[in-house]
Amino acid sequence: MTDILIIGGGTAGLTAGIYAARAGKSATILEKAATGGQIVYSPMVENYPGIPGISGAEYSERLTAQAEALGVAIEYDEAYAADRTADGFAVTGDMGTYEAKALILATGTVHRDLGATGEEELVGCGVSYCAVCDGAFYNDRAVAVVGGGNTALQDALFLAETCKSVAIVHRRDTFRGEAKLVKQLAARPNVRFVLNSTVTALHTEGGELSAITVKDTVTGNETELPVAGVFVAVGQLPQTDAFRTLTETDDAGYFVAGEDCTGTVPGVFVAGDCRAKEVRQLTTAAADGAIAALAACRYVDGL
Ligand code: NAP
Repeated sequence: MTDILIIGGGTAGLTAGIYAARAGKSATILEKAATGGQIVYSPMVENYPGIPGISGAEYSERLTAQAEALGVAIEYDEAYAADRTADGFAVTGDMGTYEAKALILATGTVHRDLGATGEEELVGCGVSYCAVCDGAFYNDRAVAVVGGGNTALQDALFLAETCKSVAIVHRRDTFRGEAKLVKQLAARPNVRFVLNSTVTALHTEGGELSAITVKDTVTGNETELPVAGVFVAVGQLPQTDAFRTLTETDDAGYFVAGEDCTGTVPGVFVAGDCRAKEVRQLTTAAADGAIAALAACRYVDGL
């Protein structure tokens, strides 16, 4: 039995592991894919205090190495359920059962789909959710980015380096993402803003995306925009399904826990983007990881 089992190896989970290990507790992270979480897909992180600029991938590698060097165990397995036991919790994964005295849920979020007809079939043939992963396939070609948050703006900046043109399609006339990124994009000759607009159809030629239909939400006019790729960045959804019977979630599906990162069940702590909160940033994910780990340590010590 490990002292603290952390579900999810993103920024919150890895930070929780670091704090638990440094407090002298045994800590295991269960990660279903690769460590790092969503930030792995950020081309450039420029708002982490003390680090003026680092790619999300490099940041994740460094964080993972830091946790492992401290003795945090990382198991690559998907957790399906968690139950209370006489002396803690039992978490069921694909490859076995993991027992722990305390649990930290740091399961993060996944990207939201656009919801357009044919979207799923076009993944890999023109529809992408990751500019860093797929951007190179669209060198010298016209692409669109859908969304108005930091992910969309960062993706557009990244794509503008190599794509012929980048249209940013956003449903409102102001962006949710940082003003600094908007200013950088406005200065790019190959970027244009398509505001008050939504994507209503995807068109194909030979099984590949060839154009999108964009609807102006003010006039109702629809226009066809020829693009080889559309990068969808319309927000995130919490990954909390497996644990909803263990600790409470809100109407949007996020785990209910205050700034003390304490779930609604003793011994369950919640950290990062999966927690119901206002600000989801790398800094707040790291902060949650520290708070949840220290609270879990106190719980394990019976304090
Ligand atoms: P987000 O901030 O929630 O933005 C989602 C965007 O998609 C919004 O502009 C939203 O429009 C739009 N949208 C939502 N549903 C839509 C739909 N059905 N159709 C069309 N547009 C839709 O999501 P995000 O950009 O993925 O960022 C998630 C969080 O991670 C944010 O807190 C962000 O700041 C953070 N982040 C941090 C870093 C970093 O720390 N370096 C990097 C990237 C992201 P409205 O604005 O009209 O709602």
